[in-house]
Amino acid sequence: MFDYLIIGAGFSGAVMAERIANVMGKKVLIVEKRNHIGGNAYDKHNEEGILVHQYGPHIFHTKLKNVWDYISQFTEWQHYHHRVLGSIDGKQVPIPFNLTALKKLFPEQLANEIEHKLVQEFGCNTKVPILKLREANDEQLRLLANYIYDKVFVNYTTKQWGMLPEELDPLVTGRVPVHISRDDRYFQDPYQGLPKHGYTSLFENMLRHPSINLMLNTDYHEVVQFDHQTNQIYLFNQPFKGKVIYTGKIDELFGYKFGELPYRSLRFEFDTLPIAQYQETGTVNYPNEYDFTRITEFKHMTGKYHRWTTIVREYPQVYNKDVKGQDIPYYPISKPENRELYKKYYVEAKAYNQLVLLGRLAEYTYYDMDACIAKALKVFEQQLLE
Ligand code: FAD
Ligand code: UDP
Repeated sequence: MFDYLIIGAGFSGAVMAERIANVMGKKVLIVEKRNHIGGNAYDKHNEEGILVHQYGPHIFHTKLKNVWDYISQFTEWQHYHHRVLGSIDGKQVPIPFNLTALKKLFPEQLANEIEHKLVQEFGCNTKVPILKLREANDEQLRLLANYIYDKVFVNYTTKQWGMLPEELDPLVTGRVPVHISRDDRYFQDPYQGLPKHGYTSLFENMLRHPSINLMLNTDYHEVVQFDHQTNQIYLFNQPFKGKVIYTGKIDELFGYKFGELPYRSLRFEFDTLPIAQYQETGTVNYPNEYDFTRITEFKHMTGKYHRWTTIVREYPQVYNKDVKGQDIPYYPISKPENRELYKKYYVEAKAYNQLVLLGRLAEYTYYDMDACIAKALKVFEQQLLE
């Protein structure tokens, strides 16, 4: 009945389904346990008619022209460059920390001296991860590094991950490097924006094809069996011979036999307020106050008019697959021991020659949306196109 089976209808699954149907002309079944497509990028209009991102704010940004060209087939774009302010010492300053933040927070003469040294040491318009800046030889640069570490990173990271910055893969805090520049945008990628009619509409456009069949509200366990003894896969109790693209959690696929891969989860608190605008920028980070990490106001991002506004606060929390409300695995935790555990499952998965692992969960990798799309396009070209 079907040539390909895909588990999960997020970016990873949707790109594969779209390519299989449009390029190969083959039939594909997508099985998705949620009641909607789009994975964590899903958005919808709330009761007040304001477009919100149900699983946290999603800004599309990429350096990759092929990804931008590909995804632009399915949407027009709302022009948007994300700006974030951080609440530091009673002031709101740009995040990533940049020369503007330095001027706002430090006495003028000291700020000028430090700026001069930063430019001399690293150059203009460069980005320096905080953990690298802390290793600077110069005393004033170390003073700055320790200030930024204390005021921007240590408390935010402890809230977000339950760990100190140096306990995580440096790439995590390296996502928000100190920027020796006055450019106050969160990303400098050449391609940025939000889908003009929302992410869900983008996904609908991707998946609108007679050869793409979608089963929502269906955990794959209800229709697919993996026999780990024989490495045979069954769909609707019949042996299935086609390729299976799996975008769920890899440890779940193997019944957690080596133990659970840890994740960090979030609780979102949405608030709709009878005012036109709540804050100055799309997101304001609160590293040192409150239990939440940041507040995002959707109207800045979506550009949609409404007389009221909706904001969301993000409260990080422990992930627990058995507790409702804590059971969404938002973030894989990048640490060497977790990579080691992942590898054990990966070896098991390799025994299935039909199986393709893709995405944040199946690859246990802190991917942004563009990276998921890039990976799916590459895997499609290299492993599916015969
Ligand atoms: P997912 O979107 O998680 O999709 C996997 C799908 O598989 C889900 O729909 C899930 O329900 C389904 N599934 C899982 N298990 C089963 C099962 N047993 N049976 C059936 N279906 C199953 N990226 C950006 O580029 N920009 C941003 O601004 C950005 N902001 C983010 C903010 C937050 C708070 C978070 C958590 C992530 C953010 N991301 C952002 C990352 C982005 O969400 C991911 O890169 C992307 O959604 C991953 O797509 P995916 O298809 O791999 O996984
Ligand atoms: N971070 C921080 N303070 C900030 C912003 C980010 O400490 O004000 C750290 C924190 O560890 C966070 C990481 O940098 O998890 C990556 O931030 P990003 O905004 O990329 O996280 P995401 O949007 O993926 O949640």
